[in-house]
Amino acid sequence: MSVVSEPRLPSTPRIPDQAQAQDGAELQGGRPFGVKPEVLYGLKESSRLRAVKDWIKQHSLPYRTAIFLKSIPHGIKGLIKGKRGAWDHLKATMSFVTRADRIAGRPINITIEPTNLCNLECPVCETGAGILARKQGHMTLDQFKVIVDRIAEHTNTLQFYFMGEPFINKQAYEMIRYAKDCGIPFITTCTNGDIVNPEKLIECGIDEVNFQIGGMSQPTHETYRINSNLDRVLRNMRETLRLRNERHARMWVVGGYILMKHNEHEVPLFEQTMREMGANHWWVIDPCVRTIDQGKQMLPTDKAHWFYDPGAFERGILRPRILMDNECPWIYHNMAVQVNGDVVPCCRDNQGTEIMGNLLAQSLDEIWNGEKYVQLRKRIHEDQGKVKICRLCSSYGASPLN
Ligand code: SF4
Repeated sequence: MSVVSEPRLPSTPRIPDQAQAQDGAELQGGRPFGVKPEVLYGLKESSRLRAVKDWIKQHSLPYRTAIFLKSIPHGIKGLIKGKRGAWDHLKATMSFVTRADRIAGRPINITIEPTNLCNLECPVCETGAGILARKQGHMTLDQFKVIVDRIAEHTNTLQFYFMGEPFINKQAYEMIRYAKDCGIPFITTCTNGDIVNPEKLIECGIDEVNFQIGGMSQPTHETYRINSNLDRVLRNMRETLRLRNERHARMWVVGGYILMKHNEHEVPLFEQTMREMGANHWWVIDPCVRTIDQGKQMLPTDKAHWFYDPGAFERGILRPRILMDNECPWIYHNMAVQVNGDVVPCCRDNQGTEIMGNLLAQSLDEIWNGEKYVQLRKRIHEDQGKVKICRLCSSYGASPLN
């Protein structure tokens, strides 16, 4: 069961597994495992509330109204509290509500890919499967600094991962330290946990780290997390928590369980382990797949944990349960920077098909309201179904301010 064991500090917009980030299906996750949706929200009428929310998300005008009603007070509160990015958040929300192609505010939530290499071979991930059509390598510390210097002033949240395992980059900890020293309020990452160094993790000042687990026994864990060692991952997570507590570090340690057909039975053990460890938060991640065949092999039997439309799946079509009505607030508050500095709209574009510019060569403003971004927003507003990266996405909503 996904449980918040104590009041949540900053709220991250999403916690995708780095090996699945490109699909984002898991972002719909976090629902208590094995609990029917109506129980999920505690009351029977809440399942109706969920249906209403789903309906709103699929209709442009009600959706924009809902985002307005939620995000404007959120932005004002951020402004009063002096949060970095609050003014940009407010302006960008207004741009979204009015469907502007050029955005008044700058992006406040930035994803940076420190590497697109990985130590594991998770089969759904393009890096893991060896089919990433981009040049693979690490970002250098100098390149990272150039990028952070260009974005830090307005950045509220930095997501330090995209494709690949972030800590395979030997300069990862220094990068995080640099971004913190530039005043970015909230930095979060996802790791497979195999090679992370708990000591350095604490020292670098990161705000949140998510350990993503593939099962609670070695055979189930390594069915998806190929080449990973579960004992090592749990040991690293425990040590991170021990050091965090010992040093009173202000850092959230989160456990994510990549739910698949082969590991459903171990969810109670995952919960129990996370509780005993003292993790801040743990949750079940609804899995993503790329093809119907992968779906048949991996999707859990409990369809409450399907991001995909089960009826369409039966007919051999892979599509999300919620289809957006030519809208996406995410592209008003966020951008993603790939390992070579290329900017793409979101982590769905793992192959770099919609390159908006390059942050090693151009300024943020040049890219954010440049012709390519303007055209992409127009295409999304006019016929989102034709934007390839959006086909398996239900958008991520509007970014919170941390
Ligand atoms: S709807 Fe499209 S642009 Fe928006 S987050 Fe999803 S894939 Fe990215």
